[in-house]
Amino acid sequence: MDKVKAEKEIKKLSRDIEEHNRRYYDLAHPTVTDKEYDDLLKRLIALEEEFPDLKDLHSPSQRVGIQAPAGGPTVKHHTKMYSLDNTYAVDELKEWHARILKGLSGQKPEYVVELKIDGVSAALTYQDGNLISGATRGDGITGEDVTPALKTIRAIPLKLIKIPDVIPAKLLEVRGEVYMTHQDFERLNQDRRDKGDVLFANPRNFTSGSLKLLDTRMTARRNLQCFIHSFGVLEGGEAFKTQWEFLQKARVLGFPVNPFSRLCGSFDEVVAYCQEFQEKRATIPYDVDGVVVKVNALDQQTRLGATLKSPRWAVAYKFPAKQARTKVIAIEVQVGRTGVLTPVAKLEPVECAGVTISSATLHNFDIVGQLGVRVGDTVIVERAGDVIPKITRVEGGGERKGKSFSVPKACPACQGEIVKEKTEQVAYRCVNPLCPKQLERSLMHFASRGAMDIEGLGESAVRQLLDKGYVRDLADIYYLKKEDLCRLELFKAKKAGNLLSAIEKSKTQPLSRLLFGLGISNIGEKAAFTLARRFGTMPLLRSAPAEELEAIHEIGPVMAAAFVRFFQQASTHRLMEKLMAAGVGMKEPAAEGDQKLKGKKFVFTGELKSWTRQQAGEAVKRFGGEIVSTVSRSTDYVVAGEGPGSKYTKALSLGVTILHEAQFQEMVHA
Ligand code: NAD
Repeated sequence: MDKVKAEKEIKKLSRDIEEHNRRYYDLAHPTVTDKEYDDLLKRLIALEEEFPDLKDLHSPSQRVGIQAPAGGPTVKHHTKMYSLDNTYAVDELKEWHARILKGLSGQKPEYVVELKIDGVSAALTYQDGNLISGATRGDGITGEDVTPALKTIRAIPLKLIKIPDVIPAKLLEVRGEVYMTHQDFERLNQDRRDKGDVLFANPRNFTSGSLKLLDTRMTARRNLQCFIHSFGVLEGGEAFKTQWEFLQKARVLGFPVNPFSRLCGSFDEVVAYCQEFQEKRATIPYDVDGVVVKVNALDQQTRLGATLKSPRWAVAYKFPAKQARTKVIAIEVQVGRTGVLTPVAKLEPVECAGVTISSATLHNFDIVGQLGVRVGDTVIVERAGDVIPKITRVEGGGERKGKSFSVPKACPACQGEIVKEKTEQVAYRCVNPLCPKQLERSLMHFASRGAMDIEGLGESAVRQLLDKGYVRDLADIYYLKKEDLCRLELFKAKKAGNLLSAIEKSKTQPLSRLLFGLGISNIGEKAAFTLARRFGTMPLLRSAPAEELEAIHEIGPVMAAAFVRFFQQASTHRLMEKLMAAGVGMKEPAAEGDQKLKGKKFVFTGELKSWTRQQAGEAVKRFGGEIVSTVSRSTDYVVAGEGPGSKYTKALSLGVTILHEAQFQEMVHA
């Protein structure tokens, strides 16, 4: 490329990136995916490397975030708040590790690995242990003052717990990530949907928007959360020597610290952690977009230094992007096991968060209307909570050939009647009790892992059994014969035998799984377990009146009513008789003592405020834990109360996890 063209492209890229920064950081409504943004930045960096004299100090490749909006209150950070360099593959991470070794002249570093929380960065300043200000990162030098909004976050301490070597420190500035859980995100977006407000595409944008609200009562309702992961300055206290020590002490000071952080003695352990959490990502109840790897020793960090934009001693290992752009090729309507109709968009296959997706749920017809999605549209899909992909946005502009979508007049599976129901949201339901699709879904749910766990009874087997008419209700599977199965296309003698033994084995499943498998509306896995534990047998459970069910803490009136209604139906009576006659066991084993702290060794130091030492000790023993008097490498937890003694210092030096009183109580009560 010639220089003139390069200059033109650099200017355009810089302008576009600045605009995307504004939309992302300031307005909380980005219009491109993170991957698309990262690609623009990569292109800019590549051009600047090819033509170094075109590189400008003000280029977005050289700057952190954006300036705080003019006119509003700001806070100057005590030390610069950086961005992080990104790596997207283990090989890139290895290259970074090689640079660290070189920078440390071969000295071997320890690393701390932490989840990279996908939220909004914030800096909190404490004077004499009291929170005096809170700010966003802004351009890394100055941030927007959002103290009142941050004060609404319950996890952020307004006053720090005193520990000998840190507090009283005159000044402490810590940094962290403010975020929103998936559950709160869904709840709050649902509220907005009900009011007809514009939806936020993901929890990060929602968090960012919430910090900028003028009315902090509204911010408080958003139930924002926070994890502290770094510190900026500590004046008048003993400085931390390592990142790990900081995290440990931060926890004792009362800060929320992510429980998944780990100290790694070798680079291999770092890689293993990245891979472990890439897989576990879906199980974490908030957005995590990668892992941050940090050199542990602060003196080594200082030696490595920083570029204008990011420290050299830390790097982000980013997980595959969760958003992607693709085209809708059809909108289909699926019938669920309770007859509810769900619109589903069929998509041109696209890679998203490491897997290829070709369909996305549209949840319900209101959402189709709100999104205004049509066949042929270009859309942004996102794997929310990394599970079911959903469409978050339809791209505007361009030609739209598809017709707008409307609710079908009859059930697409059985052509039966559809009724409109208004419970929490509008739903359309096929009311034909013999609808084959409903039975298909019910059977698949009955056989699923969390329910009766019948291996081999998947979608195609269920479909063939229904097509041949061998199964007309859930209990019929217990009456299947080998010769019937062998007549199906899918089964040879061995496979048929395997399925029959899996079905036989399922008869011994506990009552809770059977209850869940029956697919009673509003009764999920947890409620089924609670009910089964409480009553123990099906006859006792079936005869329980609604009031008795409602008296159970976790069971609300809607659940109780649905449960009673289900067992009053004649079809349920018939089903139960058939299941019992087939020998399906309907008992829940007695609860064994909960041993969640089994094998864990605890040491106590300092004065506990709300429990006596004896009460705390009993709680540990009740759950299988052990109290020991001295701290060693084999100690699992040191519980530090007010004014902790030498055991606390020893725990720090050995890297033993330290809990303050509230965290200990949370562990016991969880
Ligand atoms: P970053 O993703 O490069 O990471 C730096 C931030 O990570 C820190 O400021 C910190 O707050 C946070 N973090 C989370 N957990 C941490 C931990 N345990 N330790 C340390 N830091 C932790 O953030 P950035 O510099 O704000 O933004 C760059 C990224 O933001 C881009 O790569 C892009 O994906 C996205 N972005 C997207 C758009 C868009 O229009 N879609 C626009 C701008 C930026």
